[in-house]
Amino acid sequence: VLSDDVKRQKIEQKLARLQFSAATVRKIQDVFVSEMNKGIHQQPSSLQMENTYVPELLDGTEEGLYLALDLGGTNFRVLLLELAHGTPIREKVKKYHISSDLRVGSGIRLFDYLAECVSDFVIAHDLQDVELPLGFTFSFPMIQHSLDIGILVTWTKTFNCLDVVNEDAVKLLREALDRRGDTKVKVMAILNDTTGTLVQGSTLDHDTAIGLILGTGSNACYLERADRVEHWETERHGEREVIIDIEWGAFGDNGVLDFIKTDYDRENDANSLIVNSFTFEKYISGKYLGEIVRVVLAKLTKEGLLFIGDHTPGSLLVPGNLTTDLVSDIEQDSLDGGDSNTKEILMKFGIVPDEEDIKIVQYVCEVVSNRAALLVSICLGVLLKRIDKKNVTIAVDGSLYKHHPRLETWIKQYIPLLAPDHKFKMIHAEDGSGKGAALVAAIAQRLH
Ligand code: ADP
Repeated sequence: VLSDDVKRQKIEQKLARLQFSAATVRKIQDVFVSEMNKGIHQQPSSLQMENTYVPELLDGTEEGLYLALDLGGTNFRVLLLELAHGTPIREKVKKYHISSDLRVGSGIRLFDYLAECVSDFVIAHDLQDVELPLGFTFSFPMIQHSLDIGILVTWTKTFNCLDVVNEDAVKLLREALDRRGDTKVKVMAILNDTTGTLVQGSTLDHDTAIGLILGTGSNACYLERADRVEHWETERHGEREVIIDIEWGAFGDNGVLDFIKTDYDRENDANSLIVNSFTFEKYISGKYLGEIVRVVLAKLTKEGLLFIGDHTPGSLLVPGNLTTDLVSDIEQDSLDGGDSNTKEILMKFGIVPDEEDIKIVQYVCEVVSNRAALLVSICLGVLLKRIDKKNVTIAVDGSLYKHHPRLETWIKQYIPLLAPDHKFKMIHAEDGSGKGAALVAAIAQRLH
């Protein structure tokens, strides 16, 4: 049996590559800058740098009723937002369940169902005779040809209606609404949740120039100078800025980030649904942080460094069994200097941990979470330098950000070290993927 000191040393060695040196941080910065530049110049890059065609934010003149659809989360949602002076004053939301049958069937059936939900909602509010501008949050990878043309690149999550791939989701929605013909809904814009978060954030803080999602997945967008954007298919009207959707979940899919990849990440990737894709997301998002921790713990156990007593790690060895909310609970213990959450969680896995085990598990959660915070901060720091405004507010949404007890604190500590000359604030833009779509519809209506 190893002494605690020797064990600790060994464990630190095992986790060393999850903690970056200053040189590694600089290299990640450089690679991110280079991939952004390539993406925006339409050269091969793991960053799509998609033009969203949202050229400005609310100007305070937007009034009236706007609809929003939010497809891509757990439920399909329809929202009605009333704006006065560009600010939401009233909101109605209804959630609709989409059966698994519809999620993987024909596109027509799916979009007919979406249109049916829209009618149900609009008629319930007695708005069938009112012309309602609608914004459509469609949180899947898409190529936009304009504010209201979004071609689906591939389905993700639980959707897989094959005949929709390479089709324009707005066209499919308009056709489905037309087939019913019982409302006067006008589809004005398609966007993803990140763009919605930026726009929603801007109603809370006018300096908002970055939208960030840290939930199941992760992505960011930012306000870019229009003259730097080459890909612009519609006629330009003297736009000064435009929101660029980075699609940073895929950062490193081309191998440029391999220098930080550990065996734990390889195993996390191997256990994931789509191997060799969403590389960056697999380091930082809610879907994966728990699994990375689990992979590390399983490895330490197999090597005789953890849970050495007469108990077996049981179901902890099964991929997917340690979810990120549990990492949050363990991190809470670390913050409080306690161990009750950690103990309870391990007991549920059939483990009776000793004090040393608890410390190690907490340490692993800290290292894995901290790496995520640092990676996000590195990219945000690069964005702050690129935007180069006096004050920039970062609007964030997503359960990982909301519930992880330390990420926000770490990100706020790292950014000033990474972009020391740039002032920033972070705000929580609740439900950007819902409200944001209605707000973008209002902007589109005004520009129309
Ligand atoms: P979306 O699926 O649209 O991203 P959310 O922003 O609510 O929706 O994110 C849900 C994800 O957040 C879950 O899949 C999980 O990975 C993560 N999550 C949920 N609760 C917690 C928590 N307490 N701590 C950390 N992450 C969490």
